[in-house]
Amino acid sequence: MASLDVPLQVQTKLRVFLIPSFMTSHILAMTDLARLLAIRPNVEPTIIITPANATLIQPTLDLLADMGRPVQLLIHPFPSVGLPPGIENLATAPSSDEWRIHKAQDMCQPVHESILRAHRPDAIIADVAFWWVTDIAPELSIPRITFYPPGVFPQVVLTNLFKIRSDIISQLDVTSAERVNVPDLPGPEINIPVSELPTFLVEDNFLADDWMKITMAQLNGFGVVVNTFYDLEPEYCDLYRKDHAKRAYFVGPVAYSSGGDDQRIVKRGGNGHTACLDWLDGKEKGSVVYVCFGSWCHFTKAQLCELAFGLEESGKNFLWVVRGGEDEEFGWIPERWEERVRSRGLIIRGWAPQVAILQHKSVGAFMTHCGWNSLLEAASCGVPVLTWPLVFDQFINERLFVDVKGWGARVWEGGNRGTKLGEKNVVPRAAIAGAVSKFMEPGGNGDKMRNKAQEMAAMAKAAMQEGGSSSKDLNRLIDDLIAEKGKCNASLENGK
Ligand code: UDP
Repeated sequence: MASLDVPLQVQTKLRVFLIPSFMTSHILAMTDLARLLAIRPNVEPTIIITPANATLIQPTLDLLADMGRPVQLLIHPFPSVGLPPGIENLATAPSSDEWRIHKAQDMCQPVHESILRAHRPDAIIADVAFWWVTDIAPELSIPRITFYPPGVFPQVVLTNLFKIRSDIISQLDVTSAERVNVPDLPGPEINIPVSELPTFLVEDNFLADDWMKITMAQLNGFGVVVNTFYDLEPEYCDLYRKDHAKRAYFVGPVAYSSGGDDQRIVKRGGNGHTACLDWLDGKEKGSVVYVCFGSWCHFTKAQLCELAFGLEESGKNFLWVVRGGEDEEFGWIPERWEERVRSRGLIIRGWAPQVAILQHKSVGAFMTHCGWNSLLEAASCGVPVLTWPLVFDQFINERLFVDVKGWGARVWEGGNRGTKLGEKNVVPRAAIAGAVSKFMEPGGNGDKMRNKAQEMAAMAKAAMQEGGSSSKDLNRLIDDLIAEKGKCNASLENGK
């Protein structure tokens, strides 16, 4: 194990409870955070989770237990929202049932409350979705930290867009290509077509209702832990510390691996599928495009089929993780396609060990939906991105990596892009093939971006090493929580 900065010593371990939401990416990121806490000498992390979601992280927890760095689980039933047993997160729920997962999250308030009252941990790190924990925490004299798996840039952009939300809704056609200028940002001007803004910003839905509660919970809580590293987005981190949180800790990339602990990253969130890594071993350095759109986004069958042809026509090596179409079936795969691409393309149905793949020397580009975790993992592995955002904050994230940082290129800029499935065009195969072959051409722009991505990877590594910004921020968090525990204990004794 790499040596670690050691925070202040305490007599007893700091008991930290972590509560992830029901999104696979958030569950994995929070488990990574729990691991970073567990390998510190003076923290005892416990994750509060539901049964099927616990199975996702069990392999990681088993490895930690073998190392003598256990993370405890406190399992409570998944709320009854009309889903079959075992369906407890966005990745496994059909798109038509996604609202049930969000409803289940909202129904967790009583169970969280009773667990926290019964166990009274020293600190709670709860996902951004669980705004109510901020209300319970002071009553129990426990500091509440918000965990924000996406980075600082999307948070600042969304918060600032929310300030002008009524203008956006009243003045603009919400399906249009008309651009909105994001107010009060440092750095280059960022403007975004209305059609690429998250739907909760431009129309009323459950998240629009929750947004103010989430923002207030974040501001009123003890502080915020963000999965990012300072050098990735320094000007936005500075602004965030000043205006967006009482205390901010930038502790990522939480999934970072120095490569020496392969078992953890191979088993992260899945069953340790290693055949794809063997396949990558047989490919030339930097020659493979890794294609994956996160844990829950959906494509139409028409789009999946077009993507299959596009990858075939690019003539380049590819490793494509496919989660099915609208109905999670694979009937859209073109006839004899797998046979034709066999020598240079591998398709994985289901779950892939993404971090291990991105670390592989054969991977030279990542076609991604711009989920924050995927972008951060690409940054920490030095892989440039071909961007294809789909929903939510992904078009915002794309702007940081492509326009501000300059180590990514858009797959397609023609036609209608946007966050609404029914209103966007199918990206044509010729555009996909062209974008991939151009990006992978030696000596071209792709090479420049590969170099820039390598620089970013060096910065991510430095941040996570002893004395680096993320390592120091995590230690500062622990020190601050230990100090707060001391204050709470003292005031409880005085109150006796
Ligand atoms: N992931 C993975 N294997 C897969 C698909 C996703 O390991 O086959 C992981 C990936 O490494 C990342 C997370 O799932 O940590 C996806 O998070 P992101 O924020 O990119 O997207 P989301 O799933 O929230 O859309």
